[in-house]
Amino acid sequence: MRSYTTFSLQYAHRFYGFKGEAQYLHGHTGVLTIEVEDSIDAGVNMVFPCNEIQKTAWDILRNFDHALILREDDPLLPAILDVYEKQGIKNGHPQNKMKGPAFKTDLATAYPDCRLVVTKETMTVEGMIKIVYDLLKTKLNIAKITFTSGVNAASQEFPVAGTVKRCPLCGIALNENGVCPKCGYKEKA
Ligand SMILES: [Zn+2]
Ligand SMILES: [Zn+2]
Repeated sequence: MRSYTTFSLQYAHRFYGFKGEAQYLHGHTGVLTIEVEDSIDAGVNMVFPCNEIQKTAWDILRNFDHALILREDDPLLPAILDVYEKQGIKNGHPQNKMKGPAFKTDLATAYPDCRLVVTKETMTVEGMIKIVYDLLKTKLNIAKITFTSGVNAASQEFPVAGTVKRCPLCGIALNENGVCPKCGYKEKA
């Protein structure tokens, strides 16, 4: 069975080099749905607690919220960094608090201090699904990701290998020592 959860992300981007209105900087509220597949954990009668999926994913995904997402070769990138630098907000600001940890993958690099994500490819809905899967595939048993943004929508299913051992008392994944990081339950040897 699957447990799934939905996030809303507000971001600005553009399709650099695209022949259409999307080549101009504009914003969206994107809706991302992550479906996690596994057996039903008999102890809690759940696949996975959705608030835990939220916590795990949002830690990384908040880097995309209220962020500017630009392709690495977009000439707007140095121009914007120059403005942020002159304004003294490039390396952070006391009111920029909703930051996730910086990340770098082959597809995207997050700069939380200036709310910027630099991507290798144009950030379409399809591109976002590739980026998100790459960031979260080792943390969650992702079976499907759906991303919608305005009239654009895409989804992709992923093969799920194996099962995650979960706590029979609170349903979250046990750590490598078979211990629940939340309630301290220890798996019997
Ligand atoms: Zn757009
Ligand atoms: Zn537990």
